[in-house]
Amino acid sequence: MNKPLKQHLIDPEICIRCYTCEMTCPVEAITHDDSNVVVDAEKCDFCMDCIPVCPTGSIDEWRVVETPYSLDDQFGWDELPEQQEIGEAAGGVEALDAAMEALLAEAHKGAGGKSKAPKSASKASVNLYNLGKPATAKVTGNFRLTADESGADVRHIILDFGAQPFPVLEGQSIGIIPPGTDADGKAHLPRLYSVSSPRDGERPNYNNLSLTVKREEKGLCSNYVCDLKIGDEVKITGPFGATFLMPEDPAARLLMVCTGTGSAPFRAFTMRRQRSAGATGDMTMFFGARTPDSLPYFGPLKKVPERLLKKHLVFSRLADQPKEYVQDRMMNEQEALADLLADPNTHIYICGLRGMEQGVEEAFRSISESTGLSWDATRDAMRDEGRYHVETY
Ligand code: NAP
Repeated sequence: MNKPLKQHLIDPEICIRCYTCEMTCPVEAITHDDSNVVVDAEKCDFCMDCIPVCPTGSIDEWRVVETPYSLDDQFGWDELPEQQEIGEAAGGVEALDAAMEALLAEAHKGAGGKSKAPKSASKASVNLYNLGKPATAKVTGNFRLTADESGADVRHIILDFGAQPFPVLEGQSIGIIPPGTDADGKAHLPRLYSVSSPRDGERPNYNNLSLTVKREEKGLCSNYVCDLKIGDEVKITGPFGATFLMPEDPAARLLMVCTGTGSAPFRAFTMRRQRSAGATGDMTMFFGARTPDSLPYFGPLKKVPERLLKKHLVFSRLADQPKEYVQDRMMNEQEALADLLADPNTHIYICGLRGMEQGVEEAFRSISESTGLSWDATRDAMRDEGRYHVETY
């Protein structure tokens, strides 16, 4: 009998096909087909470089196997196989040796960690459309959200799916395939965008959704999307993501921390709560942008009543004020945040720039520790209960 070995795998249900792991892997062990991103057991040397860069934690899967799953096996999966009973190695992840655990612990320091959906979340549909079989959506809106003089060109894009089923939940993403080919003549990979509308459509009961897209200088897909005209047809993959979802429990309290276009899912969360009567749990948002005229949805957000959404709009580049980041404002709101952290109904969501993650965690740590709570234990328990979610790029 073969000696059991550890195999590194990717969870196809949670993976959002951003291909960051594939671009990061130094030994080219990660590859994809039209459907899945997979790991070649013969090439993977467990360097762990891919762990911290994955925005969903779908990369952090391990199985103890006698014969490794082949690439073809993995390409065919809709979900990960369970750990099989294997002689002495039964118990799977526990069989990871100490060196491996140390590597993982080190890699997890910078990672969002392995995320779980909230217990009361609706079941997300994932991967209905892929590179080989994309959906086609028609552009029905393209509105600039930021002032010309702000320097940022952020767009609200509305896509209509007509008669094709394209169910999304708040917090999910879709892929857009930019037309054309790369320098090697290969089709471009899709770029991911968070959906910024709720599940029943940008317009209630229409089969449409919205995205919040910032034009990036030389950005291949962002320029394509920001220049789309009404009536244009766009190739779409997805939907993706099965963990950064909102709880259905009306008593759940939502704490949302974002920068820039990272606000997209929180627009969707807020609209979902606005459209569904009976929510008793409060919502609090810390939203960072350079200036009010570069903060997406500044006008509409200001109109959302404080009793529904407590808003902390934080600006880093106001002429007459010192630079302020979301984590600075969090430190000024210690009492309210300590109350939220102590409440088992609280769900935390962090979305936006990768750089913010560390500062936001430090603020949580300081606030928890001031009340005698260990932040690491609180965060890990929340994550385990599907109440702590990070998606940063
Ligand atoms: P941005 O305009 O570059 O920045 C927004 C604000 O964040 C600015 O006030 C900026 O301040 C501040 N900031 C910079 N570094 C920070 C730090 N270390 N801690 C806290 N705040 C910091 O933002 P953007 O261009 O819209 O970018 C949004 C990011 O979100 C992108 O990386 C995008 O990929 C990501 N995103 C993620 C998702 C997702 O995960 N699902 C969805 C949408 C967008 P200064 O510039 O003044 O330093």
